[in-house]
Amino acid sequence: MSQPSKPRILTGDTPTGKLHLGHYVGSVENRLALQDSCECYFIIANKHAFTTRSDRPEEIRQSVIEIATDYLACGIDPDRSNMFIQSEVPAIDELTFFFAMLLPFNRVMRNPTLKDEIRDKGLGDEYPFGFPLYAVGQTADILAFRPEMVPVGEDQLPHLEMTREVARRFDQLYCGVDPHTDDKDYVKAGGLFPVIQPKLGRVKRLVGTGGPGPDGNLLKMSKSLNNAIFLSDDADTVHRKVMGMYTDPKRIRATDPGEADPEKNPLWAFHETFNPDKAWVAEMQEAYRRGKVGDVAIKKRLVEVLNALLEPIRQRRRQYEQRPDDVLDALRKGTIQANRLAEETLALAKQALRQDYFGRTLTMK
Ligand code: ATP
Ligand code: MG
Repeated sequence: MSQPSKPRILTGDTPTGKLHLGHYVGSVENRLALQDSCECYFIIANKHAFTTRSDRPEEIRQSVIEIATDYLACGIDPDRSNMFIQSEVPAIDELTFFFAMLLPFNRVMRNPTLKDEIRDKGLGDEYPFGFPLYAVGQTADILAFRPEMVPVGEDQLPHLEMTREVARRFDQLYCGVDPHTDDKDYVKAGGLFPVIQPKLGRVKRLVGTGGPGPDGNLLKMSKSLNNAIFLSDDADTVHRKVMGMYTDPKRIRATDPGEADPEKNPLWAFHETFNPDKAWVAEMQEAYRRGKVGDVAIKKRLVEVLNALLEPIRQRRRQYEQRPDDVLDALRKGTIQANRLAEETLALAKQALRQDYFGRTLTMK
């Protein structure tokens, strides 16, 4: 069995658009920081995109390429990290079916992230059977690679909790691991699957540029909710989106005396996240509280801050857009490596499940 010399991580994205600032602080920053010290797998979960847009396959295909281009533009290096396409790794699907037996149906339907997505994406009761199935599939997306750590934003924690439950149940049922074993010791105790650890980003949940959602709370920045600033947005688009951003409608006008609360104005969350000039932010927040500074000034500064962050990413992106074959090559290379590892996991899982009859009949290049 392959023993990684470095800790292994897995994380990824659904190709329902391009990467945005929420991805950057929620997960991409961690990926970049871990690229050297960890063996990295980054999945582009194209099957999951079909949960909400099965009528738009071409768009999903485009988005796979856009996300891979975003990875490269951010500095993910295909020589150090494996970026791959979910649907090209069949072992993940095969594990999904076995894992689906380890999760009670009601347990999956109680998953709060699924409930939030149904509400915020307006899916009503029209969503396909495959929608809740994606959360089960995600446990296989992860465990197929037996990673120690999964860098994600806060919305993914319920999915990761289900993944931890699947790993424990599998290891207890099929590998004879004692249920009293500490989570960190499952593999040492003979389990196939590690009880994975989430690794949250610097910002767990960046809000979007729009107003509150149906429950009155500010929605997270999301590809699907038309409230995102994309890493590939040009400077003018960033300007337009920031100047049109939702702010606190009840805030006291700059000319009024009294207190305005920076907590209620998402502009400050953006400055706290992205503005490297902490002294400016503290000083201006104080002025804001006293009604001495208006939203427009804060927004203008934010445009500058974001464009400074995004410009090098845009430049690298333009280079990769000229070289689509390099993007595909990076995906191919990562997908071959992903198949090697996922096939090994599947073979070991089938042994543990006592369903290892004829060996693998698939041929892999
Ligand atoms: P969709 O709207 O299609 O669900 P998304 O914008 O939520 O797209 P995902 O592909 O579902 O993006 O998420 C990819 C990763 O980015 C996950 O780890 C998720 O937790 C993280 N992430 C997404 N949005 C945010 C955000 N606003 N703040 C922090 N992390 C985020
Ligand atoms: Mg999402």
